Amino acid sequence: MNQQLRDEMAERKQVEMERERLVEQLREANERLVVTSLRLQEQVEEARRRASQLETIIESIADGVFLCDKEGRIIDVNKAGLRLIGLSKKEETLLPLVDYLALLRLRHPDGRPIAMEELALSRALRGETIRGYEEIARHPQTKRDIYLLVSAAPVRDAEGNVIGAVEVISDITRMREFDKLIDEFISVAAHELKTPVAIMKGYAQALLRAVEEISPQRRKMLEAINRGADRIDRIVKDLLDISRLHVGRMELARERIDLSDLVEDVADRMALTTTRHRIRVVKAEPIVVEGDRARIEQVLINLLDNAIKYSPKGGDIDLTVAVRNHQAVVSVRDYGVGIPKEKQDHIFERFYRAHAGTPYDFGGMGVGLYISREIILRHGGKMWFQSEEGKGSTFYFSLPLPG
Ligand code: ADP
Repeated sequence: MNQQLRDEMAERKQVEMERERLVEQLREANERLVVTSLRLQEQVEEARRRASQLETIIESIADGVFLCDKEGRIIDVNKAGLRLIGLSKKEETLLPLVDYLALLRLRHPDGRPIAMEELALSRALRGETIRGYEEIARHPQTKRDIYLLVSAAPVRDAEGNVIGAVEVISDITRMREFDKLIDEFISVAAHELKTPVAIMKGYAQALLRAVEEISPQRRKMLEAINRGADRIDRIVKDLLDISRLHVGRMELARERIDLSDLVEDVADRMALTTTRHRIRVVKAEPIVVEGDRARIEQVLINLLDNAIKYSPKGGDIDLTVAVRNHQAVVSVRDYGVGIPKEKQDHIFERFYRAHAGTPYDFGGMGVGLYISREIILRHGGKMWFQSEEGKGSTFYFSLPLPG
């Protein structure tokens, strides 16, 4: 074999080896491709499965789900959503938000129309997350008002840009109708009770005055009837206040009140109702606020009544009146049983009684604080409290100073 032939063979071998290497690489690449494509297929399958699961969930939940794009056009609605707005085909709902607003005549709970920029979806498109916002709509078919509880959130892409918004709507009409029924019942019952209680009280007082030769035992009975009538009268007044507050018919007078004097006056009167408590007032110079004297007095009586009631062993009750952050602030502090931490969030709810079923259940309807807080809110003020179980509670309210 000459040199040339040897070289040629060596070269061929080299080429052959190179080819084999390439073939091997190709085979490996192919294998990887197959694996990748299989994985991709699996992922696509998984994504499809998830999408279908999600679709089933969205379609079967009782709440209406609305999806809109960046431009504010509804692009998808679930079955409950269709039912809610009285349409049968999805295509009919694919509207710009303006048309949706007009179709449903959306209003705030107080009846004011909702403006385009106030719509939950519009706000979500601006990046806001909205939870539990109430609105009223006119059902396009039945033409009846429906009450809706709306939540909405922006939908974002991987970079965090808002690309649409989703809205979830629950129909709370039945709940609201039931609330209305309760309000009507409370109002009718309270009105019906007013007259007989007034008669009872009137006769008890007339007898106490008129009969001179009354035996001590009978006098006690008449006084008990009188006290009972007073108690029913207070309950009736509370019930009437609740229904007035709910229909927004509580009218407040606007008069100038010296809050320091009023607090002292109420404290003095309440001191007469207890022998076991010492009520002390720390007040600054006269603090004048504007508002309804009788209603603010009612709040003070409620707070003091509670302070007395929930410190059954007696003790001090401290009141302060001061100006803080340009507001008049009143505090009522007791050293009584306090309120358990887990119950504190509900204290201002109507009919809520934190001590029901405990040894400290001293009666009451659980409406005093609800009414008191509403009265203060309607004066432009706030009511709050601090409490520790076994150590006592301090209730505060603030009222704006006339500007
Ligand atoms: P009630 O007529 O039941 O006292 P309120 O609305 O005035 O109704 O108060 C609601 C609940 O809050 C009460 O039932 C009681 O459990 C709790 N509470 C109110 N004030 C006090 C207080 N000063 N100390 C402890 N618990 C209080």
